[in-house]
Amino acid sequence: MTPSHAVTESTLTGVGIGRGLAVGPVIRMPDPLPEPSDAPSTLTPDAEKVRAAGALAATAVDIRLRGDRAGGSAKDVLDAQAFMAEDPTLRDDVNARIDSGRTAERAVFEAFVQFRDLLVSMGGYMGERATDLDDVSQRVVAHLQGVAAPGVPDPDHPFVLVARDLAPADTALLDLEKVLALITSDGGPTSHTAILAREKSIVAVVGARGALSLDNGEIVIVDASTGVVTIAPSEAERAAAEATLAERKAAPEVPVGPGAMADGTKIPLLANLGSVDKLTEAVEKGAEGVGLFRTEFLFLDSDRAPSIEEQQAKYTALLGAFPGKKVVVRALDAGADKPLSFLNDEPEENPALGLRGLRALRAHESILRDQLTALANAEAVTEADVWVMAPMVSTVEETRYFVSLAKELGLKTAGVMVEVPASALLADRILADADFASIGTNDLTQYTLAADRLLGSVASFQDPWHPAVLRLVGEVGRAGAALDKPVGICGEAAADPMLAVVLVGLGATTLSMSPAALADVRAELSRFTVKQAKEFAELALSANSAVEARAAVFSAASSLTSSTHNRTESE
Ligand code: PEP
Ligand code: MG
Repeated sequence: MTPSHAVTESTLTGVGIGRGLAVGPVIRMPDPLPEPSDAPSTLTPDAEKVRAAGALAATAVDIRLRGDRAGGSAKDVLDAQAFMAEDPTLRDDVNARIDSGRTAERAVFEAFVQFRDLLVSMGGYMGERATDLDDVSQRVVAHLQGVAAPGVPDPDHPFVLVARDLAPADTALLDLEKVLALITSDGGPTSHTAILAREKSIVAVVGARGALSLDNGEIVIVDASTGVVTIAPSEAERAAAEATLAERKAAPEVPVGPGAMADGTKIPLLANLGSVDKLTEAVEKGAEGVGLFRTEFLFLDSDRAPSIEEQQAKYTALLGAFPGKKVVVRALDAGADKPLSFLNDEPEENPALGLRGLRALRAHESILRDQLTALANAEAVTEADVWVMAPMVSTVEETRYFVSLAKELGLKTAGVMVEVPASALLADRILADADFASIGTNDLTQYTLAADRLLGSVASFQDPWHPAVLRLVGEVGRAGAALDKPVGICGEAAADPMLAVVLVGLGATTLSMSPAALADVRAELSRFTVKQAKEFAELALSANSAVEARAAVFSAASSLTSSTHNRTESE
C-alpha cells in the first residue's frame, strides 16, 4: 500500500505572475448564475424597462464604489466596467428585446451575450475584456433576481482561489489576508487578472489548463516563479515549500537603492509607466528613472491627434518628477491591441503585422513631428535627461529615419526598440545609427514564437525564457557592448527576477519594469555577480526549451546560493 506521505503529485502549468510561493487548500469559485428563463414576461414592457434600467444603474454604482475602495489601477478597471453597465447602445438593445416580450433578466442576459460575442470575435485586447462583460451581466441579473452576485467565497481559513478567470471586481477586492494564491484556467499574461495580481503582489498562476478539475480542499503548492502548481504534494515537498516561505520571510529586505550586481556592477532599475499617476509610487519604490513611458496610453480614448501644447503639458509633468534622471519616452506605439483612431485608419486582417508603431507614425509624419517637438519643448523646461525611442523598428533605414528626425527636432538622445527578430539580428548595424536600444521582450517573444501575446490558448509559447528569444537578446547585448551603446530591457521579462539576472548576463545594461516589481528584481540582482549571470545565460542559451532553460538556471542558482550558505556557516 502506498504510504500516506508518498508522492501522489501531479502538476499543472500556467503563466506565473511574479515570484511568490504559496501552499494551501483549494476553494473553487462558485458556478455562475443559471441562464434566465426565456419564458415571456408577465409584466408590461414599460415595467420591465424600468426594472432593467434600475438594475443597470444600481450595478454601475456598486461597481464604482468597489473601485473607489480598491483604488489604484483596480479603480480604472472597475470604472471601465461601470461604463459597460451604462452603455447606451447596450441599454437600447435591452429595451428592444423587452419590446419583443422578454423579461428584463432575459433581455439583459441576451444583450450582454451578443456584445460579448462581438468582443470575442475581435480577439486580442478586446477579446480579453469579454470576462469583464460576463461579470457585469451576472451582477445585473443577480440584482434583478434579488440574489447575491456570485463572488469570491469567504471561508474562515486561508485558501487558494481557483477560477476560470476572475472578474476585475473580484480580483480588486480579494482579501489578501485569506487568499494565499490565485489559479485560473483561462486568461493570458495580459488579462486584467494578471495585471491586477501583479500590481497587488498576489501569488498567481494564470492560464493553467486543467485548473477546474481541482477539488475543494485539495492541497496545492503554487509557485509563480515557475508557473507550476503541484497538486497533492508529498510531505517532503510541502515541507520544502514551507521552509522556502519561512526563509523568504526572514530574509532581510534589500534597501531601496540603485540596482547593482553582487560584484558592484551597476544595473540601473527603471520604471515602466503609462500615465503620470504612478510617478510617486515609482519614485518611492526606488526607480532610478523611467525606462519606458508608453505615450499611446495617454491618448487611447482620443479621436484626434493631440496638440503639441497638450502633449507638452503631460511630458513636462513626467519629466519634472525625475530631475537629473534618465527618462525614456517612446513615440506613440499605435496599432494591434492599442489602436489610436487618428493613426490607425484602415482595418487590417493581421494588425500585429500591419501598420503598427513607427510604421503608422511614418504614414502620419506630422503627428510624429508634433510629438517629438512637444517632447523637446518639455525637455527644455525640465532637468530630466530625455531619451526618445521608436517602437516596432524592423530595419536600419527606419532607424536612420527616426534618429535623424528626432535630432532635427532638437532631441539629443534617440534610439529604437528591438521588438522584432529582424532588428535583433541586425542589432550591430542598427546600433551603429541609434544611440541606444531597448528590447521589448513582450513583442519580441510574440514575433519570435509566432504566438499572439494576448491569447490564453497560446500562452505557453509566450515565454521569454525561450532560448530563441534569449539568443536574440544576446545578439543585441553583444552589439551594444562592441559599440559601447546602452541596451535596456523594458518588456515584462525584466520583471521576472531570475530572468533579469540572465538578461544582464546577455548584455542588458538597464532593466525597466512596473514599479511593483522593482524590489524583487533589486534583491535578485544583488545575489549574483556578472560572471555568474553570464554562466546562467550560457546555461539558458544551451537549453532546448523555455522550461529547460528556466530549470537549468534555477538549479544552478540554488546550488550556488546553498554552497555560499554552507561556506558562510562553516566559517
Ligand atoms: C514590449 O513589447 O515588450 C514592450 C515593452 O512594449 P509594449 O508591451 O508596450 O508593446
Ligand atoms: Mg511592444
